[in-house]
Amino acid sequence: MNREVRVRFAPSPTGGLHIGGVRTALYNYLFAKKMGGKMLLRIEDTDQNRFVPGAEEYIMQALEWVGIKIDEGVREGGPYAPYKQSERKAMYMQYAMKLVNEGNAYYAFDTSEELDAMRKRMEASNVNFAYNSITRAQLKNSLTLSEDEVKRKLDAGEPYAIRLKVPRKDEIRINDLVRGWVMVHSSAMDDKVLMKSDGMPTYHLANVVDDHLMKISHVIRGEEWLPSAPLHVLLYKFLGWEETMPQFAHLPLILKPTGNGKLSKRDAEVGGFPIFPTEWKDPNAATAAIGYREEGYLPEAMVNFLAFQGWNPGTPQEMFSMDELIQAFTIERIGKSGTKFDINKAKWFNQQYMKLKSAKDLSEYLKADLSKRNISCEQNKLERICELLKERIVFAKDLWNEGKSFFEAPASYDETVLAAKWTTEAVKVITEFAEALAAKSSVNADEAKTVFNEVLEKNGVKMGKVLQALRLALTGVGAGPDLMHIIELLGKEEAVKRIKTALSILNSKVIV
Ligand code: GLU
Repeated sequence: MNREVRVRFAPSPTGGLHIGGVRTALYNYLFAKKMGGKMLLRIEDTDQNRFVPGAEEYIMQALEWVGIKIDEGVREGGPYAPYKQSERKAMYMQYAMKLVNEGNAYYAFDTSEELDAMRKRMEASNVNFAYNSITRAQLKNSLTLSEDEVKRKLDAGEPYAIRLKVPRKDEIRINDLVRGWVMVHSSAMDDKVLMKSDGMPTYHLANVVDDHLMKISHVIRGEEWLPSAPLHVLLYKFLGWEETMPQFAHLPLILKPTGNGKLSKRDAEVGGFPIFPTEWKDPNAATAAIGYREEGYLPEAMVNFLAFQGWNPGTPQEMFSMDELIQAFTIERIGKSGTKFDINKAKWFNQQYMKLKSAKDLSEYLKADLSKRNISCEQNKLERICELLKERIVFAKDLWNEGKSFFEAPASYDETVLAAKWTTEAVKVITEFAEALAAKSSVNADEAKTVFNEVLEKNGVKMGKVLQALRLALTGVGAGPDLMHIIELLGKEEAVKRIKTALSILNSKVIV
């Protein structure tokens, strides 16, 4: 029977959503859409201690920014609502009770002080403490206490947790769609808490119950959850849901740029790149953390970049729109090993997407920067400037940085270029060029070039020897878009004026 593909992204609202989380959401989305299935967003907020106000809204808004559309979720609703675990609280106890009644879970009455004391005792003899099939026999639970005692405690309202009774000898096998067969012996597992004393389920129970009730077909999540998977498989088995258990796909880690370990917030700080998709204002932090959006990354570039952090299409094609990714995506092509995070690749993608933009689109970005400075410019000219700058920018903000000399005369001159290129020869050529330009009624780029060539020829100088000095005079820097087009766009008057100003200011700097 072909089952409807239903996947979920199930973040806990414990802070801003990291870029790695966005990748997990993206892979879920691509797979769902490829298979004609549904994408769910479930908020896993059972750990009230770690709840951070604003995180839930942030997650939704960040997914929206990259263009991941949710079919069922907190905002969207859906047939299995509510999609927030704290609102589903009442549903979980019955499943915990089924496990208790069938002997697959038990009540544990140990206080945290008692467990700490036990942990310390064991550690003193160099043994790590785990609540498991061996230690449970010495602890205070419904397997060691008499039935009467358990009943008395429960009736008296004593706090308890419900723990999974992990079989002592069992082999749990998982056929992970990314990693292949994973086998874990139950002796390596502990009796995880399923229900806490506050009546809230833990992640493990709530996650499995909800995946089952929401008819999830595939669990696609980060590799850090792989150690929990055997426990989840046991739960499916004990709850009698093995037949419809979702398939698992654990995604490879996104590694630090050095490749040593998982990418962290700290790596982002050190590397000078964002870790969050959009600005995240942690209510407990003094300042907001800037996101990829604020840095100037386009959502389509981020999607393309993130898709490649752990997956590849198996062809040399690198540029993929969301729709193309949906077409091309398969779980089989997700890599097993972690991918080093490479911010330069993100920049490269952004650059490619900026290049695809029309001059009109680019002019809108530039206009915003101009209006901040009270500079106005005619639309046609703006678009011509953007066309020239297109090849030179990575981010929208570079339009201003690279193009400010179209709007402002240089306020200073690059010292290095000056020291290397402001020669007697250059000054002579530039002076004559300014005079020749001034004699014309107007010049376009081609005409400016002809005039320049004539002056060069007359002086027997090669263009390469003086071009940078001319650029310096016109723009203050040593590199930029085609100089003759700059002259055309500045207009003859302004070009001549700038050259004359440079000649007089830099008079004393000539290298002989
Ligand atoms: N709530 C878990 C998280 O924060 C979900 C893990 C899973 O997808 O099962 O990532």
